Amino acid sequence: MIKSFLDRRLVPLVGALLFVVSLSHADSLGLDEKSSEEQIQKTVQDLVGLGDRSVGSQGNRAVATYLYKRLSECGLAVVFQGGELRNVVALLPGTNPVPREVLMVGAHYDSVKKSPGATDNGAGVAIVLEQARVLRDKQFPYDIKFAFWNAEETGGKGSKEYVKEALEKKEPLAFYLNYDSVGFDSGQCLLDLMYNTRSEKIAKQVPDLNTRYKLGYTLTHNTKKCFSDHRPFWEGGFCAMMIHCSDHGPAHTAKDTADHVAYSFARKNAQLGLILLTQWSTISKARGG
Ligand SMILES: [Zn+2]
Repeated sequence: MIKSFLDRRLVPLVGALLFVVSLSHADSLGLDEKSSEEQIQKTVQDLVGLGDRSVGSQGNRAVATYLYKRLSECGLAVVFQGGELRNVVALLPGTNPVPREVLMVGAHYDSVKKSPGATDNGAGVAIVLEQARVLRDKQFPYDIKFAFWNAEETGGKGSKEYVKEALEKKEPLAFYLNYDSVGFDSGQCLLDLMYNTRSEKIAKQVPDLNTRYKLGYTLTHNTKKCFSDHRPFWEGGFCAMMIHCSDHGPAHTAKDTADHVAYSFARKNAQLGLILLTQWSTISKARGG
């Protein structure tokens, strides 16, 4: 009798409480909708304002310096990685003893010539910077790295260089999340997840997170085979997933301007990544290790 009372009356209550706790966990991340959108918009405008960011250009050098400064202002330890390629990588150290798991989130900062590169990939960079700003004073058992790659548009040279070094150093990299072409919304709030067999169990949890956190995306899976910086991580045998728009809109054209970025869409993209990063302990259990 008591058991049946518990089943019928308390179980839904406990479920509701857990839901509220997980929602307040998201709120406690400090991702205020309005200010996050403003932050993302300001970063995209800054990046576009630097001019041509294609490899070898003055703007390309300037953007690396800009990103180094922005990450340093978050109080994170920042390095230029990859020699002349000038990837920019920042570390939020974890609390577990070394060697500890590393999670990484990244986006490429170069653009193609003659494109302002607002959605490809200014928005991706702005999302990762916003995540760094939100997480900068938080602590997790694992390390979190924020990475900005150069030379994606010329064959993913920046991320390839990082993966080479990670393999040499046997870095315990548990998951890499890549953002590329993530700021364009064709009006249907379509978001594509690109994953392989190694990251499939992570990707399969995203629909539930999308519902639970009311992100409102219509998710698609592996609709395109386009290259981006997740690919060198796959080839290096790491677990990696790419988030991108199903429709790349004005990418690689002169029309890829800051007014084509859907800032609410981009802010929710930042939130999705934050959920994956901060709830990794639960997510990795469901992954099976
Ligand atoms: Zn791109």
